[in-house]
Amino acid sequence: MSDLAYSPAGFLQHMLGDALPHDLPLDAYESWWETEGRAISGTVDRAGTPWIRQYDRQANRVDELVFPAGYRDMLLEGYGNGVIWRAFDPANEGLTAVYALGYIAGYYDTGLYCPYTVSLATAAAVAKYAAPEVRARYLPRMLARDASVWQGATWMTEARGGSDLGRAVETVAQQTRGGWRLTGEKYFCSNANAELAVVAARPEGAPQGVRGLALFLVPRYREDGSLNVYIRRLKDKIATRSVPTGEVELRDSEAYLLGQPEHGIYLIMEVLNLSRVANNIGSVSLMQSALGQAQAFASERQAFGKRLIDQPLMRRQFEDKWRGLREAFALTWESVLLADATWREVAGGYSERFHLFRILTHLAKYWTAEQAVQYAKWAMEVNGGHGTLAEFGVERLLREAMIADIWEGPPHRQALDGLEAMERKDAHRLLFAHLAPYADARALQAMQAHVEAHLALPQDEKEAGAFDLFDTLAPFVATALVRKYEATEMLAGRS
Ligand SMILES: Cc1cc2nc3c(=O)[nH]c(=O)nc-3n(C[C@H](O)[C@H](O)[C@H](O)COP(=O)(O)OP(=O)(O)OC[C@H]3O[C@@H](n4cnc5c(N)ncnc54)[C@H](O)[C@@H]3O)c2cc1C
Repeated sequence: MSDLAYSPAGFLQHMLGDALPHDLPLDAYESWWETEGRAISGTVDRAGTPWIRQYDRQANRVDELVFPAGYRDMLLEGYGNGVIWRAFDPANEGLTAVYALGYIAGYYDTGLYCPYTVSLATAAAVAKYAAPEVRARYLPRMLARDASVWQGATWMTEARGGSDLGRAVETVAQQTRGGWRLTGEKYFCSNANAELAVVAARPEGAPQGVRGLALFLVPRYREDGSLNVYIRRLKDKIATRSVPTGEVELRDSEAYLLGQPEHGIYLIMEVLNLSRVANNIGSVSLMQSALGQAQAFASERQAFGKRLIDQPLMRRQFEDKWRGLREAFALTWESVLLADATWREVAGGYSERFHLFRILTHLAKYWTAEQAVQYAKWAMEVNGGHGTLAEFGVERLLREAMIADIWEGPPHRQALDGLEAMERKDAHRLLFAHLAPYADARALQAMQAHVEAHLALPQDEKEAGAFDLFDTLAPFVATALVRKYEATEMLAGRS
């Protein structure tokens, strides 16, 4: 079995060859994790959720978050290496560069990848939709390469739910002479201490449902320096402890409208789409990490006269897991390439390629998050009893994977939104045309017929069978895409 399991940078190079963005500090970032980051990350996970200091000694409300030692260094290592600024730097390769770096972060710490993910989505929304003076004021701060960097956050979900935002969002946006003011509560706010957040709210008088939602930029502090956003409490989570997730109150909070209010739901979806691509990267890197944890143990452990890894049943499992990892990676990297090709498109002017990106991203989020859970469970099984012990960190993977499965929209959301993209935008036809060069023609035709037949079902049946459809379609697409990567010689001679 290959040592590649232990090196996220090595695996990226193996899978992508010359297609990997050049001049990225992937090896150096991985070395930093091995020598310093891994230990910090383990401490943060064991120490639990950060603390909140709500008032200073003079009884002023401050809502400061307090982190275990080393956390800030761990966070800044990624920002410095370019998890955000490289996306906007003409000398770099856009989103492919930042997602490649994200793969390294995700391999070591799924939770830490969240601040980078939501900061990227915030920066993209500001770059595309903020008024010029707002963009000029805030974007450079988010692209800083040193400790002065500002973080972003993406707050949509409210107490009544994250899936049905049209019903759940009660935060109201009021237009005043001095600009917009937001009042309401957000229930799941990751990166709760970010300097900037993009927030879904309903302008006064706007229609009910998702069409009435708009997207706003909300700074943590008001113009006069006082708190603009109040962190009511932090969530006590099973994992992703490297990102503080809180409940946030907006009280007449200063805000800037992004884009046109009637395009709000599209802007919200754009934010989510970029985060879903990151979730795909985080899930696949977690799969690799799980494979590494399984391999490290099975290569040493002896049972019945052989190393575990040499036992036929175990050997077969490792072969299957390697194959599955490559397929999941191919599916994910395709979502990265399509994100990179479409992320500068703006609401109201989306191309067909954008709809292809959407369906592929739904499939990849659905599939890779589920695979990550399965890989983490399997890694625990391979480690036997040790797999269940917190001191070895294997069980952490399962806790992290369960969150990756739920945030950015649980599997139901991916499958149902994917169906909608197929019905309304013919996204499946775009997908099959995209796959044609790599998939067996008859198999492709049969799959297309299967999808078309599903879409023709009555609505209830169509929804009820959405998982069956995605469970067939996602691995089919992943298998075809692995061939694409082999065909373009990225994998030639390296498998
Ligand atoms: C650690 C963590 C951090 C988070 N951070 C953020 C954040 O920073 N910003 C943010 O906006 N949100 C955040 N979330 C919220 C997350 O996006 C939501 O939890 C998620 O979208 C689901 O919403 P919900 O929890 O309200 O579940 P609900 O919407 O109540 O759904 C419950 C279940 O029903 C399913 N379901 C919903 N509709 C249907 C349907 N029509 N058919 C079948 N099944 C359906 C859902 O898929 C889900 O499995 C975070 C969540 C977690 C766990």
